[in-house]
Amino acid sequence: MRGQGERTFAELVQVMQSSNREFGGIRGIAYKNQQHVIVNEKRAFEDINHFPSMPYHLVDVERILINRSKMSGVGRVLDYASSQGCPNACRFCAEPLVMKRRWSGLSAERVVDEWAFLTRKYDLSVINLVDNNFLVNRQRVETICLEIIRRQLSIAWQNVNSSVNVLAAYDREMWQLLAKSGCRSMLVGAESGEQEILDLLNKRCAVDDILKIANLSQQFGIKTSFSFMTGLPPIAGMDGIKREFKATMRIIHQILRTNKRYDIKLFLYTPYPGSSLYFESLNYGLHVAQSLSEWSKFELVNITTPWISNHFKQQVDQARVFAIPYFQREYLPGIGVKWSVFTFLRRLLSGLAGLRLKYAFFAFPLEYYWLRRRWKRMGLISEQGKR
Ligand code: SF4
Repeated sequence: MRGQGERTFAELVQVMQSSNREFGGIRGIAYKNQQHVIVNEKRAFEDINHFPSMPYHLVDVERILINRSKMSGVGRVLDYASSQGCPNACRFCAEPLVMKRRWSGLSAERVVDEWAFLTRKYDLSVINLVDNNFLVNRQRVETICLEIIRRQLSIAWQNVNSSVNVLAAYDREMWQLLAKSGCRSMLVGAESGEQEILDLLNKRCAVDDILKIANLSQQFGIKTSFSFMTGLPPIAGMDGIKREFKATMRIIHQILRTNKRYDIKLFLYTPYPGSSLYFESLNYGLHVAQSLSEWSKFELVNITTPWISNHFKQQVDQARVFAIPYFQREYLPGIGVKWSVFTFLRRLLSGLAGLRLKYAFFAFPLEYYWLRRRWKRMGLISEQGKR
């Protein structure tokens, strides 16, 4: 199925149930007939308000809620999509390829009606948004917030996915409204601390916008996740990759100085087939997968882009599993160690991690090797070093 799938899927199911199994008339699918690949006509993108509500009653919601609560310990959380698509055209992203930069959101009234209904019916602690870019239509968001407040609904909502350019345009009043209406957390695709890279990716935002968001979310008590990627194609040479990595480490340090509880995600760049940066990557020797099983090895953490050295990967790993979490003073394996020693070690490691991030200095990682040995002894990572 290509693009928006709702109607396409319904038609496909109907045809599969019928006796003739004639797929030629279904817009928006591609399929294999004998040895031939057949790509049908496109299906036009449709306003999602035309679709019925998600039929939660068809599945065992209670079981989903209990399992999820056991796994994450965050109470009764249900996923909800209030919009589809994204109007941006970030050069690394698959979304512009799938929805062709179109965006459609459910009306504010319908969103609030459905949230109120679901929260009441399933006794939810929080609604978890799975939209690609929830905040695109400011007026819609404003009406959703005002409507929750006007109806005095006790609804919590989280994981508001937003692009930096959209969120940075929100003023203090909007942030206040978000917080007051129950918005608990956001997910922001920050990508890089280097302006040159943000421009290359077509993020249409400035590095300062990322810091502005970090400050505002701190002021209004909305927990935010910032997602970064590093190891982009060496368009500005190998020095460009090092510069970009350093700038990204610095901005992560700045964000965590604002609030150490912010969640930071750091990935190695993965070229998505069909994106404009993927074609650029081919110029730098990216191997094109030749079979389905090869495609299955495509993943976010350990992708092998040929311009990334093992040394670079190790630095990224060090930043991800040591510098960032330890700067946040998170869990330190120190069972059996006296409390005072434990405290001293934790502070020492946290301080070292902070310095490494601030100066993007990852040479002589003695503390990291020491920790890895401990982790291995404690069975927290395998012999191959995987956590
Ligand atoms: S804003 Fe997010 S979803 Fe939209 S194109 Fe950029 S990365 Fe993709």
